[in-house]
Amino acid sequence: MDLIIATNNNGKLKEFREILKDKFDNIYGLAEKNINIEIEETGKTFQENALIKAKTIAKIANIPALGDDSGLCVEALNGAPGIYSARYAGEECDWKQNNLKIVKDMAGIKNRNAYFIASLVLYYPDGKTVTAEGRAYGKLLESPRGDKGFGYDPLFLSDELGVTFAEADSDVKNKVSHRAKAIKALLEQL
Ligand code: IMP
Repeated sequence: MDLIIATNNNGKLKEFREILKDKFDNIYGLAEKNINIEIEETGKTFQENALIKAKTIAKIANIPALGDDSGLCVEALNGAPGIYSARYAGEECDWKQNNLKIVKDMAGIKNRNAYFIASLVLYYPDGKTVTAEGRAYGKLLESPRGDKGFGYDPLFLSDELGVTFAEADSDVKNKVSHRAKAIKALLEQL
């Protein structure tokens, strides 16, 4: 069976490919199917957004599509940036600006508990869906460490690894990441 991953984020595409490579015949990114659309994330939850992405792409590509929505939830910020993780510092912001903003927002705050969450929806062209969720717990650092990964990785000290996600090699991160756990939960249902 073939699969298309409904994301334009190359970091995530690479991670999904590595984790799912043994389970599907071919795993496509959007570019390989010449799909060039910006999908609006209008959902109010991670799962609603994942469904919007999967359904839109499955309808266009006519093969099963995996939609994901993920983000960072910080306890002391009441779950922010949450579904707004990608645009925390503004609509056109990059990862650096998001990281700077969260460092500033968390200045002087003792409770550093945070988790990454990934919500997945596998949408088949006939309308069948399979959903799953995964979380990775950790602490938000006051300054970045490491230069691997993407997004908030340099600020996220993983409880399981004892290093930040940006200090870990991708295959190490991929064993404990929120996406890895969500994918495992998804595969258990297939
Ligand atoms: P999405 O593309 O709408 O799922 O937005 C996810 C956003 O959450 C990304 O742009 C990152 O800011 C953040 N994020 C999700 N997963 C990770 C991760 O594994 N490492 C670092 N940041 C992540």
